[in-house]
Amino acid sequence: MSVTPTPLQQIDDPLLSSYGVELFIKRDDLSHPDIGGNKWRKLKYNLLLARRQRYETILSFGGAYSNHLYALAAAGRVCGFSTVGVVRGEAPAVLSSTLAFARAAGMQLHFVDRETYRLRDEPAFIAELHRRFGRVLILPEGGSNELALPGCSEIIAELDLQTEARYDYVVCPTGTGGTLAGLIQGLRGTKNALGIAVLRNAAQLESRIRELLQHAGAPDLRNWSVIAGYEHGGYAKVTPELLAFVADFERRTKAPLEYIYSGKMMFALYDMIRTGQIPRGARVVALHTGGLQGKASMDEKYAHLHAEASRIVVS
Ligand SMILES: *Cc1c(COP(=O)(O)O)cnc(C)c1O
Repeated sequence: MSVTPTPLQQIDDPLLSSYGVELFIKRDDLSHPDIGGNKWRKLKYNLLLARRQRYETILSFGGAYSNHLYALAAAGRVCGFSTVGVVRGEAPAVLSSTLAFARAAGMQLHFVDRETYRLRDEPAFIAELHRRFGRVLILPEGGSNELALPGCSEIIAELDLQTEARYDYVVCPTGTGGTLAGLIQGLRGTKNALGIAVLRNAAQLESRIRELLQHAGAPDLRNWSVIAGYEHGGYAKVTPELLAFVADFERRTKAPLEYIYSGKMMFALYDMIRTGQIPRGARVVALHTGGLQGKASMDEKYAHLHAEASRIVVS
């Protein structure tokens, strides 16, 4: 069912050649035809646990555009689990395309106000969810628990086979840190892992990643960093520069990006290459974590910025 190994696509770009850097995109957006992206990697071992422990229902949390709820709903349908999405905010008159998909896939949507949503990791709230929904397996927001790591570390095993382990950096966009932690675990101290922060949480992120690695028995690895400064204003925020970069990159390379994760990652990577933070001679693998299904609604939301972006010349 999974499509592994996911394709490794070399990016043919004179700009990269001029800096002596080789860049590959590992197309994990294609990791599963219905689920896709890093959320499928993170769910895999959680789904196996759910099956082993005979859970019928899996519950998790997310916002109106959550790729995690999207993937969980799809996974529930494909693997035969009922799913519940606890959604941040009051029920809207019109569902986002993400939530409409989730509901169509059979997910029960349970809207809670923002204040309540903040309690999502509190034992009292969890107990209430258990009372309400019965015996459910509860996964944290974004799916980044300890069982998310082995699924993501399999990306490294694939990559090593695909490249004969000839690469120096693996780079991913980072939200909650589960994916980066899994990549770090897979690298076992070799090469370098870089996580591009997509929201302003870099300090918290580092300690969360350390915590996840500690639980996974790999606490002392130092070959990784979280890169801050490329958030473009914060989570799901964009700038005309980002929109222009994404449009230019897609036109020149034919590789699809979205704005919240892969666009910010690639923008950061090009900047780091230009400024020498990624040295000449480096072979870099950028992980495409998916999320392309949300792009159409982003394009609508940012239509007013696209006009401005179209006047920016990307060098
Ligand atoms: C959730 C998500 C991420 C972030 O992954 P974390 O494990 O939370 O750091 C990156 N890219 C996409 C497309 C996502 O949906």
